[in-house]
Amino acid sequence: MAHNPPRIDLFSDTKTRPSMEMRKAMCAAEVGDEQADEDPTTISLCEIVADLLGHEKALFLPSGTMCNQIALAVHCNPGDEIIADETSHIFNFEVGGASAIAGAMIRPIEGKNGIFAASQVEDALRPPLRHSPKSRVVVVEQTSNLGGGSVWTLEMLNSIKDIARNSDLIVHMDGARLMNAVVASGISAKDYASCTDTAWIDLSKGLGCPIGGVLTGTRAFIEEAWFWKQRLGGAMRQSGMMAAAGIFALKNNVSRLAEDHENAQVFVERLSQIDGIELKSENIETNIIFFTVNTLNINAVQLSSSLLDQGIRINVTGENSVRAVTHMDVDRKSVIEAADAIGQILVRNTS
Ligand SMILES: *Cc1c(COP(=O)(O)O)cnc(C)c1O
Repeated sequence: MAHNPPRIDLFSDTKTRPSMEMRKAMCAAEVGDEQADEDPTTISLCEIVADLLGHEKALFLPSGTMCNQIALAVHCNPGDEIIADETSHIFNFEVGGASAIAGAMIRPIEGKNGIFAASQVEDALRPPLRHSPKSRVVVVEQTSNLGGGSVWTLEMLNSIKDIARNSDLIVHMDGARLMNAVVASGISAKDYASCTDTAWIDLSKGLGCPIGGVLTGTRAFIEEAWFWKQRLGGAMRQSGMMAAAGIFALKNNVSRLAEDHENAQVFVERLSQIDGIELKSENIETNIIFFTVNTLNINAVQLSSSLLDQGIRINVTGENSVRAVTHMDVDRKSVIEAADAIGQILVRNTS
């Protein structure tokens, strides 16, 4: 079967491809052996991200998943408990890694759009009894992916931090889309990360890099994280070519995330006028939109395949539910075209 990529790909912001300028920066990167701390571009990227998040040190890793897994492995002993939202990436999409790698278990709690209150963390804390697991880490996901790109406010994060400080809990931020939150709210990454002990950003989502995440924390934490990076096979060699893409993205692709957020608004406004489409939330804060196909005439799979016939891809997340994500490879015109195509398919199937 011929490979025929969709013209308009709203499946995920992971579908972004490195631009020619980014590829040139990658080509020109100075490189060395990363495992021996000899790759100058990787070292630079780590310094830039540590500074951006206001943490002492940073570690370049092949993926965001590895950032989460290594952080949890450093923080937890086997048998410990991790408090996280029931919609969180670590609970749903990391193949049970917390238990397989850290030997810890996850205590899922029910937030609203992926965001929970400090009081819920307090309620989930285990008593210090001989037969209870130890509550060790609380994970916040900024922005919340399954929550529809919702943004944790600084107030909520601060209240989580306060509870954590009083209860000997570590705060870890899954900041896959932290920069989306920064651009949407005007609050700095440093301010958000000041509520955490460890955090990371993904380079391969809306920032448009082909690979990579950068994990941050104290010097001692990053030293421990290095052992896990090596152990899991995440220690690389001339990784500067990939780190160069990250440096390029942090310079050039952050403020433009605002366009993705505007395009998400345009998409949502159009969708809200279509009979048979129900938005999970009208209040889209960043670039992720969930909606349901609310008619007996067509389901999400059928909608998706009709769209694909026109070269438009969305992400079917359930029998009637769909996710769409805006990003740099989908411009305003394409977002409008996608929304209009959805409208036409629904009209065709209901009349
Ligand atoms: C994508 C994502 C991850 C994992 O990142 P990868 O780079 O794909 O491994 C983790 N958390 C959230 C919230 C994500 O959206």
